Amino acid sequence: MQTKLLINGQLVAGEGEKLAVLNPSLGTALVEIAEATTAQVDAAVLAADAAFDSWSQTAPKDRSLLLLKLADAIDANAEELARLESNNCGKPYSAALNDELPAIADVFRFFAGASRCLQGSAAGEYLPGHTSMIRRDPIGVVASIAPWNYPLMMVAWKLGPALAAGNTVVLKPSEQTPLTALRLAELMAEIFPAGVVNVVFGRGPTVGEPLTTHPKVRMVSLTGSVATGSRIIAGTADTVKRMHMELGGKAPVIIFDDADIDAAVEGIRTFGFYNAGQDCTAACRIYAQKGIYAKFVQKLGEAVGSIQYGEQDDPNTELGPVITEQHLERVIGFVERARQQPHIEVVTGGKRADRPGFFFEPTVLAGARQDDEVVRREIFGPVVSVTEFDDEAQALAWANDSDYGLASSVWTSDIGRAHRLAARLQYGCTWVNTHFMLTTEMPHGGMKLSGYGKDMSMYGLEDYTAIRHVMFKH
Ligand code: NAD
Repeated sequence: MQTKLLINGQLVAGEGEKLAVLNPSLGTALVEIAEATTAQVDAAVLAADAAFDSWSQTAPKDRSLLLLKLADAIDANAEELARLESNNCGKPYSAALNDELPAIADVFRFFAGASRCLQGSAAGEYLPGHTSMIRRDPIGVVASIAPWNYPLMMVAWKLGPALAAGNTVVLKPSEQTPLTALRLAELMAEIFPAGVVNVVFGRGPTVGEPLTTHPKVRMVSLTGSVATGSRIIAGTADTVKRMHMELGGKAPVIIFDDADIDAAVEGIRTFGFYNAGQDCTAACRIYAQKGIYAKFVQKLGEAVGSIQYGEQDDPNTELGPVITEQHLERVIGFVERARQQPHIEVVTGGKRADRPGFFFEPTVLAGARQDDEVVRREIFGPVVSVTEFDDEAQALAWANDSDYGLASSVWTSDIGRAHRLAARLQYGCTWVNTHFMLTTEMPHGGMKLSGYGKDMSMYGLEDYTAIRHVMFKH
C-alpha cells in the first residue's frame, strides 16, 4: 500500500507521529502512516512555490494534456482505487467503482477542457487614449484540505480546477481516509513536473494548520465542517488569503400533497441514505404536507426499513458504516436525545446495528418539530427527520430557517409552485422532483454557513483565478 507523501516530485515517508488508518466496516486498522512534520509541510509549500512560475506559464493545452493523462491513469487503476476507497470508508465496493470512479475521472477531463476556455471579459477603450483588458490569472500556491466522506472525489474537485487554472497545490486529505489520495500521489508523480502538486498526510492541528497558515500559501480551499472552516478563516486572517469554503449542509426536502409520493419515498430512500447519509447534500430534513403526511411516513418507514446494510463486498449491500466509532457515538447521541422527545416517533431503525464495525440502522424520525435538534443540526449519518407542514408559506419559511444553505429539493406536480419556491429557497442548489444529482458542468456550493465558492463548472475554475486589469496607454 502506498503510504508515502509527495513532496517536490519525490515520494517520501512522513517523519511525524504514526496514525492508524481504519476499515470502518470491521473497526480494524488497515495500516499505520506517519504524519508530515512541520518541516515537511514547509518543504511541500516551498516546492509548490518554486514550481508556480513555470506551471502558471505552461500553455493551457499542455496543462490540459497532463490532466487528461491523470484521468486516463485513474481509469486504468479504477479497480484498485475503488478497493482502497471502499476499504477505507466501508462504503460498498460497487458504489465506489461504478458511481464514484467514473465521476472522478470526468472531473479531471472537464477541467482539462475548461483550462483552454478561460476568458477575460473585456478589451476596449474605457478611458480615451488607453486600452484596458481583463485577465484571469492563477493565484499561486493553493492549500487544499479534503474531508473523509468522498475522499478521492473531493480531491478531484480540488485539484482539477486549481491545476487547470495554473496554480500549484499542496493537498491534505483527511487523516481518516488518506489511502486513495496517497495512491493518486504516486500516479501524479509520474505525470506532473516536480512541485506542481504535493500531498501531505496528517491531522488538522499538526499538519493542516502549518499548511493553511504558511505565508507562501495564497489560497485555502476546504471541504469540511463549519467549525474547521471558521478556525481556518480566523487563523489565516493576518495573511489575508483567498478562501474557498465548502462546509456543512442540512438539506430541506419539501413534499407537497400533489407530489408523486412513491417517487419521493424512493428518492429519499436513495438520496437520504447514500454513503450512509454522510453527504453534505443528503435529503435529510423532510417537510411533508398534512394531506399526505401519515401515508408518506408509513411508506418511508417501510422503504427505509428495507435498506440492506453490511459488508462492502456483499453485492446486496446498499449502506455501509459511518466513518469512526466517535462519529457513530455522535449519531447515536442525536437519535437518543430525539427519542426522549414525546412528540418524536422512531419509525424505523434508531440504534447501533448488531454487528462489528461502525454501523447504524437506517432511521426515520417522524413528528419532528422545527426547533428540534434533529431538524436544525447536521447529523451526517443514516438518519432523516420528517416534519408536517400546512401550506407553501410555512414550508418555505421553515426550509429557509436554517444556518445552512447548500442544497434543497421541492417535490410537487405544480410547475408554478416549483418555480416560485426555487426562486426563494436560500440554497446553492434546488432540485425539483429529484435530489442529490450533480453534474460536472454545473456549480456546487453553498450559502450562509455552508460556505462560499463553487466546485466544478466554469465557476469552479474561475474561483481559482484572480481577475486582473491591464491598461495600455496609446
Ligand atoms: P472536518 O472539518 O473535521 O475535516 C475536514 C478536513 O479539515 C480534514 O482534512 C481535517 O484534517 C482538516 N482540518 C481539521 N482541522 C483543521 C485545521 N485547524 N486546519 C486545517 N485543516 C484542518 O470535516 P470532516 O468531518 O472530514 O467532513 C465532514 C464535513 O464536511 C461535514 O460537515 C460535511 O457537510 C462537509 N462536507 C461538505 C461538502 C460540500 O461540498 N459543501 C462536501 C463534503 C463534506
